[in-house]
Amino acid sequence: MYGAIEAGGTKMVVAIGDENGNIIDAKEIKTGTPKETIPDILKFFGKYEIDSVGIGAFGPVCLDSNSSDYGRIGRSPKLDWVGFSWTEAFAEKKIPVVVDTDVNAACIGEVMFGNGQGLSDVIYITIGTGIGVGVYCDGHLLHGMLHPEAGHILLAREAGDDFKGSCPYHRDCFEGLASGPAIKMRYGKEGSKLTDRDDVWELEAEYISKALMQYICCYSPKRIILGGGVMHVEKLFPIIRKKTSDYLSGYLDTSELKDMDSYIVPALLRGEQGIKGSLFLAKNAK
Ligand code: ZN
Repeated sequence: MYGAIEAGGTKMVVAIGDENGNIIDAKEIKTGTPKETIPDILKFFGKYEIDSVGIGAFGPVCLDSNSSDYGRIGRSPKLDWVGFSWTEAFAEKKIPVVVDTDVNAACIGEVMFGNGQGLSDVIYITIGTGIGVGVYCDGHLLHGMLHPEAGHILLAREAGDDFKGSCPYHRDCFEGLASGPAIKMRYGKEGSKLTDRDDVWELEAEYISKALMQYICCYSPKRIILGGGVMHVEKLFPIIRKKTSDYLSGYLDTSELKDMDSYIVPALLRGEQGIKGSLFLAKNAK
């Protein structure tokens, strides 16, 4: 039996289950400071005999398992959590942990149990409060120096778009132009209240497609899975498929790209990809 944590800025989802993603108990805990939140998490896991815990955490977070900082949160905008270590939080209970990013956990959840099953190369993109990209490459999650932060790439601006952008670090990076907060800042309303405005989704799809074109060229994924709150607007999918195909302009001639309906797809696990992925990660705890 394993534990899993999907650690987000507003809530933590904790769950107990097996490596096949079957959940037997789960709870949501409001994210406060570590001092407020961690005792609640430990109390939940204390009811069970668990072998290890898989954690999909907001970042930046150290993912080098050879480092003494493994599981430590870096310069996060969530100031209460800067310097907090997931590894240390469970050390006293002698429970081993595996830490990865929230988006990598969601990516592996979809690869193992969702729309990426059977594929060796998949990217999972969440477009919501932020934009994150989980990269599953040659059968492994990509970490590299830290972990990919592909939501912060710079995109060519659409003509006439003078929105200054919402990213505190780069202003008009992809996240600054197309995340949920960017939509709200740009139009003065949440995306969920703009579903009848075709121009909103045309522009949104434009930026998403520009980003996908770059991910396809850089990561060569065999499928792209799109999740997160913004992607609940289903009419985005056909526009994104068409625009991405137009941007690629026939340059890459693969069987996958001939069938855009199965190349660019929504997440299958309907919000459970992160917690199920974290359960799967727990299996590899040392
Ligand atoms: Zn940025």
